[in-house]
Amino acid sequence: MNIALVTGASRGIGRATAILLARQGWRVAINFARRADDALSVVAEIERQGGSAFAIQADISDEAQVMAMFAEIDRQPGALTALVNNAGILFQQTTLEQLTAERISRVFATNVTGSFICCREAVKRMGYHHGGSGGAIVNVSSAAARTGAPGEYVDYAASKGAMDTLTKGLSLEVAAQGIRVNGVRPGFIYTEMHADGGEAQRVDRLAANIPMQRGGQPEEIARAIAWLLSDESSYITGSIIDAAGGR
Ligand code: NDP
Repeated sequence: MNIALVTGASRGIGRATAILLARQGWRVAINFARRADDALSVVAEIERQGGSAFAIQADISDEAQVMAMFAEIDRQPGALTALVNNAGILFQQTTLEQLTAERISRVFATNVTGSFICCREAVKRMGYHHGGSGGAIVNVSSAAARTGAPGEYVDYAASKGAMDTLTKGLSLEVAAQGIRVNGVRPGFIYTEMHADGGEAQRVDRLAANIPMQRGGQPEEIARAIAWLLSDESSYITGSIIDAAGGR
């Protein structure tokens, strides 16, 4: 059974993605940072549905913890052939004038460096040049990479812009190694992330500005991610799907 690693799978978009991938036959590695109970409840839900999953704690902004996570995956039955770089963070809405170097570094350490090093370790396991059988990577970016998130979190938006560049560059580096690398840019999705920005009801406030007149559900993003991991998208690499209700 092939393994799919989903970072930040204890809740939100990562949780929905993990549950869908398990239904599609993947053994899913449920990464989380702090909320072990939530991660274990995702594993339990997958097993209740007849699927296979295991939880792994690792703060992806810490290289040593990422290395330990991949070492743990190596000890599991099955080969890693899919990675979803989903874990991401943002902080209180504010203008750029109020941003500190410490905050910017924290955002980039998780969203950018964490995604890079997860890609690096995945490529070492999937690439033909390493004896792997190929695979697929999906980077979960954000519509913020296009809009810039002015007055809210330009630091977060810029980190997602960096992820889009990662998707492009890595897709070309490993195209001949049997690895496809694509991205998904969600719009406003109902998850707990907005509370971290200081506005739990943000999606409802902004829904009228979305062409489709509503926020998205995590499952709607999960389906795009799962499709990009599947053989249904076998000739697609370096592409980014906007899943933002027309925004
Ligand atoms: P949530 O805030 O609901 O969940 C975040 C997840 O990431 C949790 O599982 C959390 O683990 C994990 N996480 C956070 N930091 C780390 C870390 N350093 N190491 C490992 N795991 C970590 O987020 P969403 O589901 O809303 O977002 C998922 C992705 O989608 C993010 O990359 C986000 O930027 C992107 N996105 C979301 C949008 C939205 O409207 N919700 C819109 C556009 C993009 P734990 O539970 O242990 O804390």
